[in-house]
Amino acid sequence: MSKTRVECPVCGSVYEFTSQSIQDIDTGHISCFVCNTIIFEYNGCDIWYPFLLNKKENHLNSNLETTGLTTDPLSDPTV
Ligand SMILES: [Zn+2]
Repeated sequence: MSKTRVECPVCGSVYEFTSQSIQDIDTGHISCFVCNTIIFEYNGCDIWYPFLLNKKENHLNSNLETTGLTTDPLSDPTV
């Protein structure tokens, strides 16, 4: 059993993968839980299980700066 870390190139989420040996050769791929990009492919006598360590959503706000100006409850006109 071994572990490896993979960072999704699209959204930046960090995964830890744990391998488990199996009897037969298996192939497959793992998609990012957040953005569905294929981040890992395997092909051999190990299968891999992903664990999401650090969820990021960089793909959603790549064009936005976080200003922190939208969360002031005192200036909410609907109150
Ligand atoms: Zn992703």
